[in-house]
Amino acid sequence: MADRVDMFINGQKCQASDGATLEVLNPATNELLAQVPAGTAEDVQQAVGAATEAHESGEWRSMPAADRGSVLLKAAEIITSRADEFARMETMDVGKPIIESEAFDIPMAAEHLTYYGRLVVDLLGETIPAMPGVLDYTLREPMGVIGGIIPWNFPCVLACRKLGPALAAGNCVVIKPATWAPLTTLMLADVFQEAGLPSGVLNIVSGSGETVGAALTDHPAVRKVSFTGSTEVGCTIMRRASDEAKCVSLEMGGKSPAVVLADADIDGAVEGITFGAFLAQGECCCAATRVCIDASVHDEFVEKFVAKTKAIQVGDPLDPDTKMGPLVHREHWQSVSDYIKKGVDEGATILCGGPDKPTGLEAGNYLSPTIFANVTPDMTIYREEIFGPVITITAFEGIDALAQAANDTDYGLAASIWTQDLRDAHNLAAQIAAGTIWLNVHNFVFSQAPYGGYKQSGIGRELGREGLLAYTETKTVIAWLADEPFAWY
Ligand code: NDP
Repeated sequence: MADRVDMFINGQKCQASDGATLEVLNPATNELLAQVPAGTAEDVQQAVGAATEAHESGEWRSMPAADRGSVLLKAAEIITSRADEFARMETMDVGKPIIESEAFDIPMAAEHLTYYGRLVVDLLGETIPAMPGVLDYTLREPMGVIGGIIPWNFPCVLACRKLGPALAAGNCVVIKPATWAPLTTLMLADVFQEAGLPSGVLNIVSGSGETVGAALTDHPAVRKVSFTGSTEVGCTIMRRASDEAKCVSLEMGGKSPAVVLADADIDGAVEGITFGAFLAQGECCCAATRVCIDASVHDEFVEKFVAKTKAIQVGDPLDPDTKMGPLVHREHWQSVSDYIKKGVDEGATILCGGPDKPTGLEAGNYLSPTIFANVTPDMTIYREEIFGPVITITAFEGIDALAQAANDTDYGLAASIWTQDLRDAHNLAAQIAAGTIWLNVHNFVFSQAPYGGYKQSGIGRELGREGLLAYTETKTVIAWLADEPFAWY
């Protein structure tokens, strides 16, 4: 019998108001892993009500910043002490290799909380010397109730990426995990309760996007919706949030290029782009999905890249030797497989991988890492976000054509540049319209460094100092200090 997991409203574990549940499947086997509450609009009402009450009580927002920070630091410690359990659950829920959950996901989730737990004591206003006799200063205040909506690919990390700064700044939060992978987010209820977060400050409501996500977006008491997910859903949220003039921050899709110049260290580029392309089965918003390469080094790169990719061990994600696990859900598997078929139909050449399940792995949602050559910029696989282990390689002549190719997309989340020439690297970094540019590396994200997208990849930035300020309102206070009252008439 699979576990029946609770959600968390006003400091209490609970089921959905109508008792309905959603099935969470293990992507490696497609067997039932757990049942979670299918939250209702009534549950969202309860959760937002609890968060509003907690905000109005002032207990959390009026606490000294250092004390709020201590709660976050304690939560980070608890996650770290339970890292094995969190990593195992993330791997069983999402399908990513256990070595990734252990090395990246869980440590980074704890690190986000630690970073904001420490940074919050530095959440300062400014004094503005506008004119003599006037004191002008700013206060950074919490916004109130934040609605957090997260996707399934890095659930624990992305939940903590929102909770760290939102809670540090003194807000109260209702967070909605993705239907396909909600389990580690639901585990955070115990973590924050044990860390001493007052009741109602954090509420976690599982359930579908159409019901829970939409009710959260529409609720008049929610002041900001912080969303990570697809561009399509992000734009829907933005439209709906506009009715109440809510703030939104949107971290959305990508089609990030890896731009390989003629002088690149090809062995280094092969290593780095393999990591950039296939981390988390390529179900990664900033994955290196389009290799745009100088024609002079195309053949050498392709030969080495294909050899490296064929050696990636696909299999049971709980096996520590596995480097690529199954895709998150069979519906998503079908979507990625269909893209591969479309690539073939449109005339691209498969160099390795393909649209079928690897032999012996038919029960899970597995695909082998797939590389396409002879890809032209008009092809669907070059233009659309596939969100799986599928990468395209296209040759261009010279740096100007490569710069143009990098920007030939509706997205602008990230890009990597591979070259040994510092001047080319920084000139190209300036030309590419993307929120993160990596030089000779791909997929590096730090708590301290702002992260977000240009163009249809998003609005606003998470992480870094900007990520904390994004959960505050700025209040300007202007005081007349002169002995004589101000007079005009
Ligand atoms: P979706 O946009 O489908 O879903 C994201 C979240 O939104 C889920 O919790 C989903 O719920 C919810 N949702 C769905 N419909 C609505 C709605 N109408 N109103 C409110 N909420 C809704 O994305 P995926 O989960 O499929 O994640 C993959 C996408 O996320 C990719 O496009 C990827 O690029 C992007 N992403 C971006 C990142 C970034 O930092 N820029 C990081 C990670 C991912 P439910 O699960 O029930 O459908």
